[in-house]
Amino acid sequence: MTDLVCAACSRPVTEGRCPTCRASRLQQSPGSWLTPELLVLLIAAAAVLSLVVSHLAR
Ligand SMILES: [Zn+2]
Repeated sequence: MTDLVCAACSRPVTEGRCPTCRASRLQQSPGSWLTPELLVLLIAAAAVLSLVVSHLAR
């Protein structure tokens, strides 16, 4: 992870000293891989999977 310096408080963003730091830290967090597009894709995949399972169950 790169040590970015905040433009608002000129402290490392990783320290989270101001709202700008915390906002950019959230954007860089590992949880940010879960984009809305990926969420839609996962829901579609789950729907297809449940369809396949219901077909197999018959
Ligand atoms: Zn800051």
